[in-house]
Amino acid sequence: MEEINEESEVYQTQQKWKNVLHELVNQTSVISFDMWIKKLEPISLYSGKLYIKAPNNITKKICNDSFSFLLSQAIEKEFGTDEFEILNVEEYEEFIMRTVEIKDSSIVKKVNTVNPKFTFDNFVVGGSNKFVYSACKAVADSPGIKFNPLFIYGGVGLGKTHLLHAIGNYLQENNPNINVLYKTCENFTNDYLDCLHNKSRDISKFREKYRSVDVLMIDDVQNIANKEATQMEFFNTFNDLHQLNKQIIITSDRPPSEISTLSDRMISRFSMGLIQDIQTPDFETRYVILQKKAQLENNRIENSALEFIAKNVTSNIRELEGALNKTVHFALLNDKRIATEDDAREALKVKKEETSEYITPEIIIDKVCKYFRIERRDLLGIKRNKEFVEPRHICIYLMCEMLNIPLDTIGKEYFKRDHTSIMHARNKITVTLPTSDKLRRDVSDLKSLIENR
Ligand code: ADP
Ligand code: MG
Repeated sequence: MEEINEESEVYQTQQKWKNVLHELVNQTSVISFDMWIKKLEPISLYSGKLYIKAPNNITKKICNDSFSFLLSQAIEKEFGTDEFEILNVEEYEEFIMRTVEIKDSSIVKKVNTVNPKFTFDNFVVGGSNKFVYSACKAVADSPGIKFNPLFIYGGVGLGKTHLLHAIGNYLQENNPNINVLYKTCENFTNDYLDCLHNKSRDISKFREKYRSVDVLMIDDVQNIANKEATQMEFFNTFNDLHQLNKQIIITSDRPPSEISTLSDRMISRFSMGLIQDIQTPDFETRYVILQKKAQLENNRIENSALEFIAKNVTSNIRELEGALNKTVHFALLNDKRIATEDDAREALKVKKEETSEYITPEIIIDKVCKYFRIERRDLLGIKRNKEFVEPRHICIYLMCEMLNIPLDTIGKEYFKRDHTSIMHARNKITVTLPTSDKLRRDVSDLKSLIENR
């Protein structure tokens, strides 16, 4: 019975949401609707509030700033409450975790942590990713048998997360009862710490949840904390599942041996299966990816523009997608239905300035605190403990590098220090960077966390 109820609840939410969209399509411009509102997805009605997922911060901000009135009216009509909250991807994950905890463990199994958007069908295979693709296909065809664990590594935006979800979707399609759990490493750790810190210090719920899965996916394992207890729990989870022939898939931005926080025994466990890298895509693959994405966007872009983007955006696929969206958006803003090569050129020119606009001091502070697992007051305070001083210096360095605000303002507004101390902190990092691998890694991880938030 329960299952039917859950499913029909999801179905009803979707139906009501369709009506909300129907309502809004008549009240907003084509561009606004296409660019922003259409991209929202209802999650669930929870404690009298409708939770909605936005694909990124910009969509969240624009919908909140410009359409909250229209949204609340339409939502009230359909859902009987005008209260709603738009969550970005990170907040969505937190929300899911929170509700999973509240629900009883028999329902835990049914919470879907796999994103239906990422499938094998919409993953473009080329020279840079054909090996990793076959490995993922093999694992999806026979989980727990072929490569266990499967460890995938490669730089940001190259498709690691996409592949994890693709495996999840494929497995669930072929076996609706299979229990697939996708977690970022950060969420896994928080899940564990939450259990440790709750009143009863009862981690049996945690164990029950993680031991009952058929397939466990841990994304971005390079973020594993250098803490004995967390690593031990991870190690035990891994061993228990592995012994039961449950499939484990792990991703990271670098090979296991280069994750400085990872214990040796964990490294050797990862080597039991297959370690496969994913590389930056070549021109051909970039072009095909763009074509495929353009089709999904109703081909509102000329081939020459796609070629221009594929030639000029070489770093990764996330950037490639961003450039495509910008170009289409740019053309739309200029009242053109089809984007041309010139639009691409113009759109990419302004890219840098636009993205930095959305990075704020608060975002940097927040990411640094989370990354080093320290409190905001310790980061910004005056304590000289080693575990606070370096994060503080790194935070200052990143604020100087990534924001366009004077040293004096950074000092006074955030650190209660004058600009000479800020300069000193920044210089300290600049000087140490070339000599410390760990520092370089911390800084580059943080930068990508901030840029790809
Ligand atoms: P990573 O986890 O490696 O940082 P993601 O999996 O998040 O990268 O990929 C970034 C974006 O690029 C996603 O939107 C994803 O769908 C897309 N993408 C990556 N690789 C491919 C591919 N081969 N074909 C189509 N889209 C891809
Ligand atoms: Mg990822």
